Amino acid sequence: MTRRAPAIVVLGKGSLDTARKIQRFYPDALIHGLAGRVEEVDRSYQEFGTTLRQLYQQDTPIIALCAAGIVIRSLASVLLEKGAEPPVLAVAEDGSAVVPLLGGLGGVNVMAREIAAGLGVAAAITTSGELRFGTCLLNPPSGYALADLELGKRFVSDLLAGESVRIEGAAPWLDEARLPQSDAAQLTIHVGCGEREAAANELLIHPRCVLVAVSAVVPELAAAVRAALHQAKIAEASLACLLANEEEMADAALHAAAAELGVPLRFAAGASTSDLAARALPQLLAPQAIGDGLALAVAAEPIDPASIGRARGRVAVIGLGPGAAELMAPAVKAELARANDVLGYETYVRMAGPFREDQVLHCTDNREELLRARHAFELAAQGRSVIVVSSGDPGVFAMAAAVLEALEASDDPAWHRVELEMLPGISASLATAAQAGAPLGHDFCVISLSDNLKPWSIIEKRLDLAAQADLAMAFYNPISRSRPWQLGQALDIVRRHRDPATPVVLGRDIARPGQSLKVVSLGELVPEMVDMRTMVLVGSSTTRTFARADGGEWVYTPRWYPQD
Ligand code: SAH
Repeated sequence: MTRRAPAIVVLGKGSLDTARKIQRFYPDALIHGLAGRVEEVDRSYQEFGTTLRQLYQQDTPIIALCAAGIVIRSLASVLLEKGAEPPVLAVAEDGSAVVPLLGGLGGVNVMAREIAAGLGVAAAITTSGELRFGTCLLNPPSGYALADLELGKRFVSDLLAGESVRIEGAAPWLDEARLPQSDAAQLTIHVGCGEREAAANELLIHPRCVLVAVSAVVPELAAAVRAALHQAKIAEASLACLLANEEEMADAALHAAAAELGVPLRFAAGASTSDLAARALPQLLAPQAIGDGLALAVAAEPIDPASIGRARGRVAVIGLGPGAAELMAPAVKAELARANDVLGYETYVRMAGPFREDQVLHCTDNREELLRARHAFELAAQGRSVIVVSSGDPGVFAMAAAVLEALEASDDPAWHRVELEMLPGISASLATAAQAGAPLGHDFCVISLSDNLKPWSIIEKRLDLAAQADLAMAFYNPISRSRPWQLGQALDIVRRHRDPATPVVLGRDIARPGQSLKVVSLGELVPEMVDMRTMVLVGSSTTRTFARADGGEWVYTPRWYPQD
């Protein structure tokens, strides 16, 4: 398992220097700073406790630059929950102390040592086994799995009680451990991929050195893989990954089996599963074919799944919301963290950042939507994880439809096999409405006034009918330099059906720096009040306003309708 990039959490400016030093050892890590107190950070948060709990529950390692007590109190309520236990460390603001707090099995002591070494101090390690042997036996490096944690704990306490130990098999990471080794020892550490019960006095560790090439045609695939491993007398924990033919990349049964077995699923070209396995690990003796759809290959050392074939590529079309980071869905934030490539109009890509050095940004002009969509599939077909960025919601006058249009027009099977997902965002009309009150509180419609991609006559017809139907209306793309007259005409049409006193909300750059919100009447509204960064919400016949205590005005459309 690769560890997630840690989050470095700071409360004030005083700890930024130390945070930056730590970021140098973990280039993937983002610095999270308290909004209003520290600005020069990668992510801003509003509330320390909530942020810490969220990171913890997402299994993100936490390096908090503050008192250990604050961290402990903030996480107390989530500690008893089963589930993630990422490493959590408190580091003194000035970098003079590094205290591993939680996540012993997740490698917190290793991190504490790394950070402490980088800062030139000693880590406050308190784990007895670590202190004595310089390593945590219960936390083998990636590529190895401990067979049984509870048995392991007893083993370590026997070892601490003064027993000596013998190592069977290859455990290169223990070379530097200060273990009391002796050939005559009662206790053994056994490293191997064979299926066996841990003997008494034995710490059993399985190297993940087995690959199973599979085909989606095998019924009950996960169970079949388990049976194949059992038949070959191989421990299930030694399974490093599944490998399948790239033509079966989109097959749900394959993905379900990999998820059930808890291993990555990789893809390559091959005539049969034996062929796949043989090509993936060419240094092997002939792989064992088991039945029709399975072939098993065992390597001498742990297999890094990233080196086998490639992953299924992914395209996520995301909505950033109107602007402010708090209005972005957590699923979108998580997607931004996992992406290899980010495509979009430069302004939005910048809004979605900051990005890590390993993430590739492809900024393009706003009008090249189809080119951008095709580029996304080209990258994803190589196994990359690609994000296409929209502002607001990707399905509202934005990239989601362009991406589907490009896909439908393509006859490249590799494009169709890519995993495609749209992640929603808060659209500008909804963000604007929320600030004004509830102008869209009853039936409403959204209309783009841009006639770039549809004839003006259609827009006129829709405006006329929507106004007649007494729908409240949200106008996207209301005006631009190349479309100067359309808004005026649109308002003329609406005015045929609606009273001049009808409230209109104008939201400009909502949830962005310099935002403004105005309420005018339909009679007062002139196109000069509006630009391309404005959302225009036109009320229905029932939309009303009243004074708010802070001097502004609430606008809302009641849920009911006057009865005739
Ligand atoms: N997908 C976007 C809309 C893209 S169309 C969404 O769901 O919000 C672009 C239009 O959206 C702009 O011309 C403007 O009318 C509106 N818009 C986008 N962001 C806005 C914001 N932050 N404030 C006000 N209007 C905005």
